[in-house]
Amino acid sequence: MKTDCIFCKIKKGEIKSEILYSDQYCFVIKDISPRAQVHLLVIPNKHIEELVNMDKGDQVIIGEMFASAQRLATDTGISDSGYRLIINQGEHSGQMVDHLHLHVIGGEQLGGMV
Ligand code: AMP
Ligand code: ZN
Repeated sequence: MKTDCIFCKIKKGEIKSEILYSDQYCFVIKDISPRAQVHLLVIPNKHIEELVNMDKGDQVIIGEMFASAQRLATDTGISDSGYRLIINQGEHSGQMVDHLHLHVIGGEQLGGMV
């Protein structure tokens, strides 16, 4: 936990956001400014700032985040039509929140990669 981190604050209930799913590894919210009909964020419970800050034991968390993303895609009905998973990593990617998160984006035809 980091006291000034938006996602840690959401996890603690200090910033209001509907938590759609949670387990021992991660939780899921809707992105506040969705880029497509479905835009969810899979966020690890642990405050991992970037991929480079991961401890070896954290690899299981990444695996669970992708498993959650896959389940969410099925639950939201975008699994068959396809979707995009994005992790922004560091300055050049435009990463805005320094708490690792996986974007799950779909529900409509998406544009090019960048
Ligand atoms: P990134 O550029 O990968 O760091 O993306 C951070 C994402 O978090 C952006 O898509 C924001 O719209 C989203 N975001 C920021 N604050 C909130 C919030 N309070 N609730 C939900 N999503 C948020
Ligand atoms: Zn955090």
